[in-house]
Amino acid sequence: MKPAAFTYHRASSVRGAVELLTELADDDPKILAGGQSLVAMMNYRMARPGHLVDIGRIPGLSGIRRDGDALRIGALTTHHAVERADLGPDFRVLSEAMRWVGHLPIRTRGTVGGSIAHADATAEWCLLAVLLDAVVVAEGPGGRREIAAGEFFLGPFSTALGADEIVTEVVFGRPAPRAALAEYADRRGDFAIVAAGVDLDTGSVALGGVGTVPVLLRPAGPAAEVADGLTLRDEPGAPAAYRRALVRTLVERARAEAGGRRHG
Ligand SMILES: Cc1cc2nc3c(=O)[nH]c(=O)nc-3n(C[C@H](O)[C@H](O)[C@H](O)COP(=O)(O)OP(=O)(O)OC[C@H]3O[C@@H](n4cnc5c(N)ncnc54)[C@H](O)[C@@H]3O)c2cc1C
Repeated sequence: MKPAAFTYHRASSVRGAVELLTELADDDPKILAGGQSLVAMMNYRMARPGHLVDIGRIPGLSGIRRDGDALRIGALTTHHAVERADLGPDFRVLSEAMRWVGHLPIRTRGTVGGSIAHADATAEWCLLAVLLDAVVVAEGPGGRREIAAGEFFLGPFSTALGADEIVTEVVFGRPAPRAALAEYADRRGDFAIVAAGVDLDTGSVALGGVGTVPVLLRPAGPAAEVADGLTLRDEPGAPAAYRRALVRTLVERARAEAGGRRHG
């Protein structure tokens, strides 16, 4: 299917994009980044924005930067750029997790900021952000603000971001040398049915596919206890009992992988 008619705008700066979003507020403007989720939704007429504000060519929004203990990832950085980056032992979990994100063509266009803003509860970036206490940096008419990942995801495809705000950066504030992600999807490249992230240094488990937002457990008990403690409903093709069994297996698997890593 083709999308409904819309007007295309190309922003050349974050400020310019924010101004466009503000000016066009009455006509449902949407930010376009990698287009890997938004364009599909437009083609299926699940989204019918009147205006697209393309931020894809704004300089300075892409790149990965070490800042003391923290890692700062620009919103337009692609999944593939993170996959290929040498982030060292402190943040290798981020590069490694990218292998689970769609297929290569999706990873070469899809962006970190787009994933976070899209807020699919099984998306790897959403899970990693919650697991590792990332901070989402956004810019809007009122200036710049920082939103803790734990307060950012409000529900399915719903975030604390205002309609006129742009994610500019995602900041992972502390090293996570003993973190790992494990997941299961029926076909390679599909969204996970269940994903489990663990960080042994904080005793945290974050789960995708078990709620409307990534679920963080801290401290988390043994894998069986984590699985048994979840309130799950049957879903088409993924009954609650099946997902509970996946949680148990994937938490064990992620912990085994993380446990094999050295500190620092
Ligand atoms: C077949 C297929 C399989 C996929 N599998 C996976 C998977 O396994 N795991 C996974 O995580 N993802 C998967 N994806 C989605 C992919 O990761 C997308 O890249 C990502 O969800 C959105 O990033 P984008 O840059 O393409 O954003 P877009 O599609 O351009 O935008 C998505 C949404 O975010 C908003 N937005 C984008 N950037 C910003 C910003 N900087 N600030 C504020 N709002 C913004 C847009 O307005 C829109 O609402 C898959 C996609 C496809 C088509």
